Amino acid sequence: MSKGTRIGKCKLCLETKELNFEHIPPRSAFNKDTKYYILDQTELYKKAKEYTFENLKPKSRKEQGGIGEFSFCFDCNGFLGSNYVRTYKKFSHMAMSIIQSNDKKVKAFQLNISEINLLKFLKQITAIFIASNNHSFTESYPELLDFVRNEKSTELSDRFRFYMYLNNEGQNRNGHIHFTNLYGTVCEFTYSPFGFVLSIDNPKRIMQLSEITNFKHYENIKMLDKLPIILNKYPTYYPFPLDYRTEKELNDS
Ligand SMILES: [Zn+2]
Repeated sequence: MSKGTRIGKCKLCLETKELNFEHIPPRSAFNKDTKYYILDQTELYKKAKEYTFENLKPKSRKEQGGIGEFSFCFDCNGFLGSNYVRTYKKFSHMAMSIIQSNDKKVKAFQLNISEINLLKFLKQITAIFIASNNHSFTESYPELLDFVRNEKSTELSDRFRFYMYLNNEGQNRNGHIHFTNLYGTVCEFTYSPFGFVLSIDNPKRIMQLSEITNFKHYENIKMLDKLPIILNKYPTYYPFPLDYRTEKELNDS
């Protein structure tokens, strides 16, 4: 189902143009026919338990045809499509099949990612954070724009650190920027099979997640035959950033 187009300012080239409905994550990464509700965040925070475990139904109408926003113009959409999206799709299908072919109780997986162009993958993740946030985000952090727009660039300052995990249980997380007391400034995006965290200006490593900031140096490591990565699998029941409590932990508290 097409959602049409809209006139607005593109979040990537910053020109005012006709905007496409951008699937976030890409349509080919299990986001084709997703049905979902758009919920007010404050409402969701207040009633996290009711929505998650007590069958409270949102009053808003059910949306369908994949999650996304009118973020990018046709040219920028095409640019991402031809440069980064296939890599993201490949990795997400690999991760999904590993999760699904194992017992639900398995909490960590080792994946061989030597076939994945990790620089492209990191740029697609960055594009997801840009698409999910409003314009003030890249006005504050213009470096992220340059990193995505220039497909060859491996330059990104150390103030930006990326992390990932696997996910197939709980709710999606929308990638919006949050200022937290424990982790400083973070954006978290979760859509099965992946969760990503972008941490800004926090010199401390987030220990429970696998850091993937070094994916930007892919050109230096791509010769390796085997490139193993260990990813934890976390549930995301509540909408709070970096909250990975299990269903049991939440219901016992
Ligand atoms: Zn554009």
